[in-house]
Amino acid sequence: MKILAGSALVFYSAAMRIDKVPVRLVKSGSSTSTAGEIEIQYWEKRERTLRALKFTGLCWAAAFISIALPIVHFVLVPAFLLLGPIVGLGVLNRESQILRGSGLCPHCQAPFVIAKAPNQLPLSDVCTSCRAEVLVEQT
Ligand SMILES: [Zn+2]
Repeated sequence: MKILAGSALVFYSAAMRIDKVPVRLVKSGSSTSTAGEIEIQYWEKRERTLRALKFTGLCWAAAFISIALPIVHFVLVPAFLLLGPIVGLGVLNRESQILRGSGLCPHCQAPFVIAKAPNQLPLSDVCTSCRAEVLVEQT
């Protein structure tokens, strides 16, 4: 059983691809920019299906647990039952995401960390050092 579980884990991780992509961090309202890099995570169809089933199952498990809660179970149980397929479809249709990224803030030159986000560039983010808005663009 452990060997089967191990080989499934290898296939699971092989179905996921991570690309490193160079980006430009642009100061909003100006042409000043610095270089950065993001990691984009791609999922294959099989992995997206497994993730969708996992999220749907988690919502339905929350619905089952909510049965035990008096009064609020009238709202929570149907809400989680409906939320399951909606979240599952969202996860199934998401082919990629920005996993993380880094660069230098074009305002204050401090290290700039790009958080996990949908894979849609340009991306607007706020510097944690100077609180200025930074646009992350494709080079
Ligand atoms: Zn900054």
